Amino acid sequence: MATILSGGDLSLLQGKVAVIGYGSQGHAHALNLRDSGVQVEVGLRAGSPSGEEAQAAGLAVAPIEEAVRGAQLVSILLPDQVQPRVWDESIAPAIDAGAAVLFAHGFNVLYGRVAPGAGHDVVMVAPKGPGHVVRRLFTEGYGTPALIAVQQDASGGARELALAYATGIGAGRAGILETTFKEETETDLFGEQAVLCGGTAELIRAGFETLVDAGYQPEVAYYECLHELKLIVDLIWEGGLSHMRWSCSDTAEFGDYTRGPRVIDEHVREEMSRILADIQSGAFAREWIEDMDNGEARLKAMRAEAATTTLETVGAELRSLMHRAGDA
Ligand code: NAD
Ligand code: MG
Repeated sequence: MATILSGGDLSLLQGKVAVIGYGSQGHAHALNLRDSGVQVEVGLRAGSPSGEEAQAAGLAVAPIEEAVRGAQLVSILLPDQVQPRVWDESIAPAIDAGAAVLFAHGFNVLYGRVAPGAGHDVVMVAPKGPGHVVRRLFTEGYGTPALIAVQQDASGGARELALAYATGIGAGRAGILETTFKEETETDLFGEQAVLCGGTAELIRAGFETLVDAGYQPEVAYYECLHELKLIVDLIWEGGLSHMRWSCSDTAEFGDYTRGPRVIDEHVREEMSRILADIQSGAFAREWIEDMDNGEARLKAMRAEAATTTLETVGAELRSLMHRAGDA
């Protein structure tokens, strides 16, 4: 079993921490660090829509170059697609020679798209949850677990610094696990492609369409294959697969053991291995970077097409009814 760490020495973050970007992760890191007593300055591009929001929350806000200048640590919490350009144009020219650079995901460093010079510590603190949850749990006295990693240890203290930062955002309350940029990036990409986003979305769609094509009402199919999934996942999250099976009927459990492996069969496992191989070889990264360089044309087309499916139109209607609860 890997060691789960419960925190580090916050006093290592005595200088200024520049948080670049005020989106999902940016706002959570900036506010949690500030509430932990760290001196935070939020760096935003000119005319950023989130500037007012950060100021209203009582944070110091400055143009990116200014926030970066004099910072002990620069936390890059921009969308992964824009990090290389902002690094080249605004961060690299302004960063102090010995400042540490922190990422919340390893993609750009692993694939060589952002490469801070040898004088900088390069570390990762990747919370295992959406930014809004990272903030909410912190304010409630809890934390979100995080992975930490060191890519480049110029100071000799990079690991301790990452641990301090993870502690400042509240991850020590929930558990901090050490990894590498390679392991974090490859497992993160695999998880979102095969299981969490891609795998789940297609499983839902295939189940829904199988029922609808067989003549069942789309509304019934929606409740069965999408709505109830959350309730099942909540049980799995609470107590693992056996807890979910305990809560469901014996009929459901018998069907689960006998039919589940027919859906997720050898062919699916072989395809998962090929998807992982594409991640490890860099083929997936090259394909996605090519689309980013092309204005994300493929992404935008697939997003538009996915929004028009029956699953989505039926779902929008049913959710508008369910989410009225309490008005009655
Ligand atoms: P985001 O899309 O929510 O927000 C990024 C912020 O960057 C914006 O709010 C804005 O302040 C700024 N920004 C956007 N476009 C910009 C541009 N062109 N130039 C300058 N600034 C710009 O990003 P996010 O989801 O918080 O992701 C930040 C990092 O955290 C990424 O590396 C991501 O992989 C990682 N991460 C995200 C999550 C998550 O829950 N969203 C979880 C773990 C790790
Ligand atoms: Mg992930």
